[in-house]
Amino acid sequence: MHELSIAMSIVEMAEEEARQRNARVSAVHLKLGALSGIVKEALLSSYGIACDGTPLEGSRLVIEEVPVEVYCEGCAAERRLATPWFVCPECGAATPTIVRGKELEVTALEIQ
Ligand SMILES: [Zn+2]
Repeated sequence: MHELSIAMSIVEMAEEEARQRNARVSAVHLKLGALSGIVKEALLSSYGIACDGTPLEGSRLVIEEVPVEVYCEGCAAERRLATPWFVCPECGAATPTIVRGKELEVTALEIQ
């Protein structure tokens, strides 16, 4: 499962960080783009599995979902997509330039 390997690398990274600071991680904050290809629910349950038997057991994964935003040249503005189609919701022009929505990044660790 794709999400499990991602969860395991998140846990590994957080574990390493905790070890260096000689602290305990109570929560990991993650930004997850709508185009990342990751299913939030699957990642959450994978995280629980990945934490088992590690110092992160019992910690939380806090996911902030990032909607897809594109750049519309016609409007010269960033627009949030309202549909799965890559067209500007204001002027209807095709908007192939993705500004946000592919994120998969750890933004913060809560440490005790
Ligand atoms: Zn537009």
